[in-house]
Amino acid sequence: FLPHLVASLEQVEETYIMVKPDGVQRGLVGEIISRFEKKGFKLTGLKLFQCPKELAEEHYKDLKARPFFPKLINYITSGPVVCMAWEGVGVVASARKLIGSTDPLQAEPGTIRGDLAVQTGRNVVHGSDSPENGKREIALWFKEGEICQWTPALASWFRE
Ligand code: GDP
Ligand code: MG
Repeated sequence: FLPHLVASLEQVEETYIMVKPDGVQRGLVGEIISRFEKKGFKLTGLKLFQCPKELAEEHYKDLKARPFFPKLINYITSGPVVCMAWEGVGVVASARKLIGSTDPLQAEPGTIRGDLAVQTGRNVVHGSDSPENGKREIALWFKEGEICQWTPALASWFRE
């Protein structure tokens, strides 16, 4: 196997990252965006948005049967969120690592939730859990024309 052939098989993924209403209210938007920027992923979509109830329910439809579902929908619709699309090789799993465990008390120090939150019901940020859900969620939260394809000037300083 030639290394350049292996590298060319690496899949560029997309993930949907969202600063939840507590993160916006607490002034953590810049800090959270900054962690993904500094890591080296590419931002392709960004907006401040008041989420309607129907969209929150669709986004979290897999959790509909859980007892905390009504509280979760109230939380996500309680104020504006910051919607982001990020792109890169391995971005889905890497973003989940940067975010940390669902329960901020279990999340490792150095992760967003580990550093900035104390409770599952106020865990400041969302990240897609698979490349398929990354695509699904970006299509759900962004309209045609809101995603920007561009080549960062520093791209070659992040990937050989
Ligand atoms: P995530 O992928 O790490 O965000 O976690 P899940 O997909 O399991 O859950 C989605 C979101 O639902 C979490 O980020 C929390 O905001 C919320 N959530 C999950 N479990 C609980 C819970 O037990 N209680 C409450 N209040 N919220 C929860
Ligand atoms: Mg999840």
